[in-house]
Amino acid sequence: MSLDIAAIRSQFPILSREVYGRPLVYLDNAASSQAPQRVVDAIAKAYTTAKANVHRGNHLLSHQATDAMEAGRVAAARLINAPSRDEIIFTRGTTEALNLVAATMGQGLKAGDEVVVSAMEHHSNIVPWHLLSQRNGIVIKVIPMLPDGSLDLDAYARLLSDRTRMVSVCHASNVLGTINPVKQMAAMAHKVGALFCVDGAQSTPHACIDVQDIDCDFFAFSSHKVYGPTGIGVLYGRRAILEQLPPYQGGGEMIGHVHWGDITWADIPYKFEAGTPDYIGAAAFAAAVDFVEELGMANIAAHEQQLAEYARGQMAAIPGMRFFGNAPERCGVISFLIGNAHHYDTGLLLDKMGIAVRTGHHCAQPLMDALAIEGTVRASFAVYNTEAEVDALVAAIRRIAPLLDR
Ligand SMILES: *Cc1c(COP(=O)(O)O)cnc(C)c1O
Repeated sequence: MSLDIAAIRSQFPILSREVYGRPLVYLDNAASSQAPQRVVDAIAKAYTTAKANVHRGNHLLSHQATDAMEAGRVAAARLINAPSRDEIIFTRGTTEALNLVAATMGQGLKAGDEVVVSAMEHHSNIVPWHLLSQRNGIVIKVIPMLPDGSLDLDAYARLLSDRTRMVSVCHASNVLGTINPVKQMAAMAHKVGALFCVDGAQSTPHACIDVQDIDCDFFAFSSHKVYGPTGIGVLYGRRAILEQLPPYQGGGEMIGHVHWGDITWADIPYKFEAGTPDYIGAAAFAAAVDFVEELGMANIAAHEQQLAEYARGQMAAIPGMRFFGNAPERCGVISFLIGNAHHYDTGLLLDKMGIAVRTGHHCAQPLMDALAIEGTVRASFAVYNTEAEVDALVAAIRRIAPLLDR
């Protein structure tokens, strides 16, 4: 099915705003996507009709707030095909989800135990493991890349051993667009008895996710990159593992009972949700899932792929264009430099022409080190982007290229 992009765009009021007197061309979706009106409406509805603390109150508003939040949990489970809603933990986002994994499963690790990550990780899948290694002496091993920006799976196989306790990798790279073969990698990790965690921040907005098919033990993503509100994200965890893990933070909601000298934990997922959750964010996330399901993720993915291929083709014709990320399987992320021009200057000039792209190291400094660059310019697509917007980007690059110090 091909999508009616004009009709989709009309659901995003922000897309019709201007910047510096020019129409906005929003190509920074890998950092945060825009939210459709129904998500904004869900937030407004919660604030105007049912703002009350969840799970505790014995009054109607609290029941309605609880139902709305739990509907968000069911929607999240559906989006990634989790076996049950109990395996969906609400967090502040991907970052907190990965910190939760490292902090809880990390308590069972000791000096010399190994955690494997890849060379293309976001800082949020590096720093939590680094903190753990400072705390208890675990060893971090890094899967290297091949020249095209895909992971070296032979090297990965050699890194795995009976010391490997955890493999944690991104499903899709936020810089290179590379889609990693996580199903195959999970099977390899399980063969040596390690757990497998997926950073799904960049794949969940652009691909049909099935955590049961991947057979991963953990899967993390952020609502704000999937057309949803900020401040809320999800950690999926396999039930048997979640039940064994210690709690993450302590506070209200995560306990069974609390007496001096005798504390028990709540059942999953609440054991991992200390304190008042972002219940309105969770409720509004259900509206984002509704938006995705109405269009169909396969249709969204096809549109974005087509757009990214068109953009790559148009941009490749510009003299001096350098692309980063040439793996055969990629999502709609294009990282580039114009000759030796600084990414920051390029981004600044594009911004003045109304085009929003990301510049810098994209929270992946070790990857920049591996590429021997300081940063890139990154254009990234969502379902509402059009070929006309790609044309605007390409025309803008052609105009500014002669102005840049290359
Ligand atoms: C955005 C991103 C994160 C972090 O997500 P937050 O929403 O900032 O917590 C982690 N990994 C990847 C690959 C990302 O793109």
